[in-house]
Amino acid sequence: MSDAEQINLFDWQDPPAIPADHAVTPTPTLEEVSTNAHIPIPTGFYPDLDQLAAHCRQCQRCDLAPSRTHVVVSRGNPSASILIIGEGPGQQEDETGFPFVGRAGQLLDKILASVKLDSQKDVYICNIVKCRPPGNRVPTLEEAEACKPYLLEQIRLVNPKIILLTGATAVRGVTGDKRGITKIRGQWLTWQNYLCMPILHPAYLLRNPSPEPGKPKWQMWQDIQAVKAKLDELSRPS
Ligand code: SF4
Repeated sequence: MSDAEQINLFDWQDPPAIPADHAVTPTPTLEEVSTNAHIPIPTGFYPDLDQLAAHCRQCQRCDLAPSRTHVVVSRGNPSASILIIGEGPGQQEDETGFPFVGRAGQLLDKILASVKLDSQKDVYICNIVKCRPPGNRVPTLEEAEACKPYLLEQIRLVNPKIILLTGATAVRGVTGDKRGITKIRGQWLTWQNYLCMPILHPAYLLRNPSPEPGKPKWQMWQDIQAVKAKLDELSRPS
């Protein structure tokens, strides 16, 4: 190598600046995540559902925290093929710490049992918000957005074959679809590669108990049979 070539090896050029959109975002701390709704929770933040649940119990990300008795994270089987998402905890859920345990929850268990699905073994149940909205009002957009990262992590960790979205709040909270639930119930849709079906909320059936064809209870019977048929199809060895 000539002297000139060797000297050229010492040439120095500043490395190109890293564009802002490629800058590494530091992983937030648990403290930051649980107190500030503007701090995003990165995908994969929680290694398992137990750590997610423990963290949710300390959460103060939204205005629902001060009035809750319990944070309501889930019930059922974390390895289930079906994940059911409701709106938010009611009084009995707030008191017990488990979702869908009041009258609507008992009806949901019966609906599942009608197609031989067990609510403890075959499904994992959670809600759009994990703390009870006062007076059972619909969660605000801000509350739903603050809580959504936990739900996304639950979906990732359970990784179900099918997601059931019970009622308009669940549909809107997960997919952003604002259409009325009576328009889209029973229709399969794909969200983030997950097969989802919007269904009526069991509380709506309690208020509309007629089993006549075309009525909400009859519609639920059609929908849950379609869900079971799809689950059987997906579970069949190929
Ligand atoms: S509803 Fe969700 S975001 Fe709000 S305090 Fe409860 S766990 Fe945290």
